[in-house]
Amino acid sequence: MIPRDHPRYTSLVTREHLADYARLGIVSWEGLIAHGRGEAFDYLLGEKTSESARRSAQTAAALLRTASHPVISVNGNTAALAAPLIAHLQKVSGALVEVNLFHRTPDRVRQIESLLQSAGAAVFSGEAERLLPLSHDRAFCRRDGMYAADVVLVPLEDGDRCGVLAAMGKKVIAIDLNPLSRTSNMATLTVVDEVTRALPVIADACSSLTDEECGDLVAKLDNKVFLKEARNEMKARLCHALD
Ligand code: ATP
Ligand code: MG
Repeated sequence: MIPRDHPRYTSLVTREHLADYARLGIVSWEGLIAHGRGEAFDYLLGEKTSESARRSAQTAAALLRTASHPVISVNGNTAALAAPLIAHLQKVSGALVEVNLFHRTPDRVRQIESLLQSAGAAVFSGEAERLLPLSHDRAFCRRDGMYAADVVLVPLEDGDRCGVLAAMGKKVIAIDLNPLSRTSNMATLTVVDEVTRALPVIADACSSLTDEECGDLVAKLDNKVFLKEARNEMKARLCHALD
């Protein structure tokens, strides 16, 4: 039982929630470690959405809105943390939702798909094939889904798949708290923010941006600037703490 007045209440509840989902087999044990790395970077951000992250999330919405075949790729951590937020983003963006896992078993895929479906998402499922040039199981995707996408949103992605998707000519939107990761640096656009904070900002912008605003945001997109602003945000907080 976590006391409500604990200063780290939200973080502890989230950890317990992820541990429960790990026991169910939805989150991998390795996914718990990845969450810990994310928490460390979130501390450096002050656990809030920066102005820069808000602009990159709006740009993410503009990329989804202007895509002809957008796909949201979902792994175990994302499903456990944000299934209803994914379902909402799907509704406002019109993107396909497809499960893609590093630790892939047919059972895990089914569990994650049904978690997403019970949150209201229409999951693009069916036979996945080994279509991406990767030696691990993130190579599996659907020919008419992620393989054919022009824009792919990849929350909590692994760097090598991000690189492969970008090399295939897709626009890749990452949500990653680590502005130094390979994923962040290989993506077309990185939202350096916690996934449950970033997704609602992206969804709101999908609903509210005009076509003209979408065009402007896409034309101005410079991921190096967003990553630099995220690093500066962290640097400023560290410097302030050392004063
Ligand atoms: P890369 O392969 O890109 O170099 P990595 O191997 O260091 O990255 P992975 O384990 O592949 O990291 O992916 C986990 C990433 O997801 C980490 O960078 C972590 O900061 C980020 N992350 C974890 N939890 C969250 C979260 N809730 N919201 C946003 N990002 C998160
Ligand atoms: Mg990795």
